[in-house]
Amino acid sequence: MSSDESGDRRGNQAPRSAADTSSRDWHFDTRAARAGKSFELRGGEPSATPIVPSSAFHQPDSATIAAVTQGKQPGYVYGRYHNPTVAALEQTVADLEGAEDCAAYSSGMSAIAGAFAAADLPSGAKILAGRDLYGTTIVWLEDAAARNDWQLIYVDFSDRPFTTGAIRDEKPLMVYVETLSNPLVRVVDLDAIGPASRDAGAILVVDATFTPPSLLRPIEHAATLVAHSATKYLGGHGDLVGGVLSGPASLIAKARARRTLDGTIVDPFTAWLILRGLKTLPLRVKRQCANAREIAKHLSLHHAVDKVHYPGLGHRDTPRERQILERLFPSGDHGAIVAFEVTDGGEDEARTLMDAFELWGRVTTLGDLGSNALVPVMSSHRHLPPERRAYMGITDGLVRLTVGIEDVADLIADLDAALDACRPH
Ligand code: PLP
Repeated sequence: MSSDESGDRRGNQAPRSAADTSSRDWHFDTRAARAGKSFELRGGEPSATPIVPSSAFHQPDSATIAAVTQGKQPGYVYGRYHNPTVAALEQTVADLEGAEDCAAYSSGMSAIAGAFAAADLPSGAKILAGRDLYGTTIVWLEDAAARNDWQLIYVDFSDRPFTTGAIRDEKPLMVYVETLSNPLVRVVDLDAIGPASRDAGAILVVDATFTPPSLLRPIEHAATLVAHSATKYLGGHGDLVGGVLSGPASLIAKARARRTLDGTIVDPFTAWLILRGLKTLPLRVKRQCANAREIAKHLSLHHAVDKVHYPGLGHRDTPRERQILERLFPSGDHGAIVAFEVTDGGEDEARTLMDAFELWGRVTTLGDLGSNALVPVMSSHRHLPPERRAYMGITDGLVRLTVGIEDVADLIADLDAALDACRPH
């Protein structure tokens, strides 16, 4: 009998579970069907986090399966409930956010839905939401409000006295904001909204997609739940779609319970990619912010540019605005999104500019290593009626830049050439 037929294929590996086919002389087809299952890793911990793509997990007996399934014992049973690679991501993000716990999702939108599952708002609940939010979030909120009979009130959260007054008077059960609004990068003063929400007994949900935790940690500013589209800066390489939601363990447990029903857990490979991205997050984001500041300054002096939207651009900020920026962004970096309008430009000029780019990508995302541009009326905010966009301050000619890590001189040269194409000297 050859060693291949002997049933002894264990080497120095010991049988370890009901799945182990190496301990008996099973037939060839059985051994083939169980390929790899009798292997136990020994001789060194992997230095990289393992990707565990398993749909399900063996437990030594049915009592343990029951205990793990009921949450009485830690462990894994089924991939829609939980997974070790996903757990590694969740622990890392909770640590970086300064949160008790985190749940990872298949997209940023499912993480946002998770925040509402955690909040479990009753019918009739009042929600105060930021006036300018990501377009799909607005569509989601309005749909959910109509179906659940929630009262949705939009507020300009950049107006501090009005904001705190509105929270006190309206007594909402939830306040929902983005740290930097999309696409006009308006700064929301979390230090005003956080305590006001807490005093009113409202859950403060913050979508911090534009400000990864190396820049701003909303929980340190009294946010209850923090969501990110990990598709953006956390993943950072434009090669995945995912989301994370961080906050108190009791709320994250509720979000996870709903995630299990909806089947919106992130897959293990994507979780691993996000973990890999997080390792270079501070380095990438630092460079992206430095490039963005340089570009914002350049555009603000350009003859063909009317308005530039970028936090801390300088001359137009009041002392109070500068103080807010210093409190929220202790690193001095204010994000890597810049929006601007071509002088007297509308959608036609924005299109001409976009088509003239050689280096800037025409891509509907943000937070990648590479720089990209989009026109919100044609992409991120196209679902909204024109009057809603006007209320948010989004003009037809607005262009949003997401700045990458390239050499900033090349980015500026390509911008100048494209601006020349739509507004020649
Ligand atoms: N929140 C913000 C601020 C976004 O910009 C986006 C997507 O662009 C999302 C949430 C949704 O994220 P995802 O596309 O990963 O679902």
